[in-house]
Amino acid sequence: MSEHGVKKVAVIGAGQMGGGIAQVAAVAGFETIVYDASADQVARCQATHEKLLARAVEKERMTQDEAHAALERITRVTDWKYLEGADIAIEAVVENEGVKREIFARLDETLTNGAILATNTSSISITAIGAATKTPERVIGMHFFYPVPVMKLVEVINGLATDKAVTDRVIGLSEAMGKVAVPANDRAGFVSNRVLMPMINEAFYAWMEGVAEPEHLDEIMKLGMNHPMGPLRLADFIGLDTCAHIMNVLADGLHSERYRPCPLLEQLVTAGRLGNKSGRGVYEY
Ligand code: NAD
Repeated sequence: MSEHGVKKVAVIGAGQMGGGIAQVAAVAGFETIVYDASADQVARCQATHEKLLARAVEKERMTQDEAHAALERITRVTDWKYLEGADIAIEAVVENEGVKREIFARLDETLTNGAILATNTSSISITAIGAATKTPERVIGMHFFYPVPVMKLVEVINGLATDKAVTDRVIGLSEAMGKVAVPANDRAGFVSNRVLMPMINEAFYAWMEGVAEPEHLDEIMKLGMNHPMGPLRLADFIGLDTCAHIMNVLADGLHSERYRPCPLLEQLVTAGRLGNKSGRGVYEY
């Protein structure tokens, strides 16, 4: 395990991903601060932590004392000043480049101790986020997967300017958080979405062209490729709007129209069929 030198972890954004990242950091023994602009989100995050850690105790994955200690290690705040002194900031706010750039410029000013500045973005250029700071060599992608406490992977993404020592520290820290960290470089979609999303998009084309019904298409991919779920079912889980958005990021970033979203995928999004979250996507829920 490489040396990470991290004692205090700051998580920016207390939503679905930020809450999960904070939980994993605290369970791994790190002093953890979670910051969000919304007091409601902070309160919701606390309730989620209490519920999930109580469930972990029930399932005998940790003792009551361990769960209690993990909860005690997390401070949830809406005041930016508590971020001071953190050894790493892991940003997980909304997927909006302007908002992220603003946060990184501010983190650059606040964390003057050489702290690592990481982002959990799934589609925004690490190099672009780094360029919002005066110290892009310490900016890196730390891409966790949902649900964070369960999913093992952290895709570690180097921006153009990221220092190799920062990459090594982030890999070490991810391992200390019980994850498997795998490095990649900053191109649109990194590795995970670059390879996954075109497969999902192709499944929409195959459905649109009448190659197979969604159930059959998913069954073939599930059983034939040993995937836990078929690509159309997975698209519903991710959100069809998110899938279409990421295809456009690939098309723009890689300068190739072959990555544009399938017309049927776009049409379902237009109709408000976004997947699990809207009650209907490819399938009904
Ligand atoms: P979410 O909507 O659940 O949470 C976002 C949080 O950011 C909210 O709590 C919101 O109050 C907060 N926020 C917004 N603007 C802010 C600001 N200016 N300052 C502080 N807090 C602010 O979103 P999420 O699903 O947790 O996604 C967060 C990030 O993680 C995104 O960049 C997303 O692309 C990435 N990501 C998501 C997934 C996933 O499966 N959901 C997987 C990997 C990566």
